[in-house]
Amino acid sequence: MQYPPGTAFMDGEFVPMAEAKISVLDWGFLRSDATYDVVHVWKGRFFRLDKHIERFMRSASRIRLDIGHGPDQLQRILAECVRRSGHEDAYVEMIVTRGVSPTFSRDPRDAINRFIAFAIPFGWILRPEQREDGLHIAISKVQRIAPEAVDPTVKNYHWLDLVMGLYDAYDRGAPNVVLSDGAGHVVEGPGFNLFAVRAGRVVTPVTGVLHGITRLTAIELLRELGVEAEQRPLGEGELRGADEVFATSTAGGVIPVTRIDDQPVGDGAMGALTRQLVERYWQAHTRPEWTTEVDDIAAMPQAAE
Ligand code: PLP
Repeated sequence: MQYPPGTAFMDGEFVPMAEAKISVLDWGFLRSDATYDVVHVWKGRFFRLDKHIERFMRSASRIRLDIGHGPDQLQRILAECVRRSGHEDAYVEMIVTRGVSPTFSRDPRDAINRFIAFAIPFGWILRPEQREDGLHIAISKVQRIAPEAVDPTVKNYHWLDLVMGLYDAYDRGAPNVVLSDGAGHVVEGPGFNLFAVRAGRVVTPVTGVLHGITRLTAIELLRELGVEAEQRPLGEGELRGADEVFATSTAGGVIPVTRIDDQPVGDGAMGALTRQLVERYWQAHTRPEWTTEVDDIAAMPQAAE
């Protein structure tokens, strides 16, 4: 088995990625009973690490999981994973699972929660050399799991709807997908949020979706350009009729969407506002208020938490 090169932290130790393994009895595996977050490192700097740690801690507390580490300790563990991995550009994941119950009881309160972190090479939904061509998506009939059932603002591994949506898209000749809410609105895709631009107005769904940190970043960058994104349900027809569509994700930033169900979005090329956002997003990776040097965290003295 080939593993991406990297470093993981589990059971209190840093280990090579290939050695980071969990029991098949972990509820994280058996029941998708876990939460996680993914932050990236670009040219040796974490991007919006505080926001990712905040979301991770809020998610864990919402589903009654104990991470076992405070925010400063988390930062240090993540930085140390990156430092040991040697990656300048990294995909850095933190996970807490329900864990294993020592008595194999069916009561989740008996399980001992497990924290894992790892750093592997940065991964893309759409590689930079494919950016001009843009992402091609299908709008799937597969419904995103209802927010009343699984809270999508708690980042989770309930991905079977997203994966079945991908197969639906492949069957229809599209390499990617967005799911709907069953009431005529699009929500999100496998690992990304969506934005539609029409006549200078920008809309992004707000319910039934993860509140992505890249989504937040795009909203803030748009505000700097004098554009206030409307956060409200986004109709399928509105998406199809948009002048520009883009996706946002930690795995690639602002990503132009140029075809929907094999029809061009606008004139089929990356839109002007999307292009401006792509440029600003990558430029923002040196802003001191949004980035933190990995080596600075790794060098921080350990404080009692
Ligand atoms: N929506 C889902 C379901 C996701 O899993 C992700 C990220 O993996 C996103 C949206 C985008 O969130 P972020 O910008 O924080 O990466």
